[in-house]
Amino acid sequence: MRIVLVGPPGAGKGTQAAYLAKNLSIPHISTGDLFRANISQGTDLGKQARAYMDAGQLVPDEVTIGMAKDRMAQSDAVNGFLLDGFPRNVGQAEALDVMLKDEGVKLDAVLDLEVPEEEVVKRIAGRRICRSDSAHVFHVTYNPPKTEGVCDACGGELYQRDDDSEETVRTRLEVYHTQTEPIIDYYRAQGLVVTISALGKVTEVTARAMEALKSDEG
Ligand code: AMP
Repeated sequence: MRIVLVGPPGAGKGTQAAYLAKNLSIPHISTGDLFRANISQGTDLGKQARAYMDAGQLVPDEVTIGMAKDRMAQSDAVNGFLLDGFPRNVGQAEALDVMLKDEGVKLDAVLDLEVPEEEVVKRIAGRRICRSDSAHVFHVTYNPPKTEGVCDACGGELYQRDDDSEETVRTRLEVYHTQTEPIIDYYRAQGLVVTISALGKVTEVTARAMEALKSDEG
């Protein structure tokens, strides 16, 4: 399956993507994670991306599209993938369509995670992520680790993302509304959008998502 996950920052895209990718046996491709890996490895691409990310702005398409294309060209993505955080504007969605057309394949669904804005800010402000595996996500109030600052799953150090400060979150939300939301209409016109509520327990949202993808297929 080829799936695109959309939703505002804090909707739980990363968490859901990890579970869904595992359930569906397809790789989870997160452009945010790819940028963060480049930053921690000190690559040129990471240096180009950093200032935009810290400001909560989108990294320019020239950088992002090439990086996403390289990742999708890897052998594990030949039969499908779950894209998390890409495309993030209509230009990227058009570029993705061209890439898929060149390969003679199509998207199966665009899963839209819906969550109210007040909830987004609360979720992000308390979010803590594992340095060893970004799929291990905690929340200081909603899903606290057993030991503060330590990942329950692997013992890794938990940290707060630089762009999870309240001010940057507001910018990221505005960017989401103005630049990313229009891709929902773009994909709706192609009959691909399935919207689900991202409220509730992680396992409940995963079940809802699997159900929605299944009925979409049928
Ligand atoms: P995320 O981990 O998906 O929340 O992404 C974190 C940050 O990485 C975003 O706020 C952007 O600065 C950058 N980023 C991730 N994906 C994209 C993309 N598709 N286009 C442009 N910038 C992106």
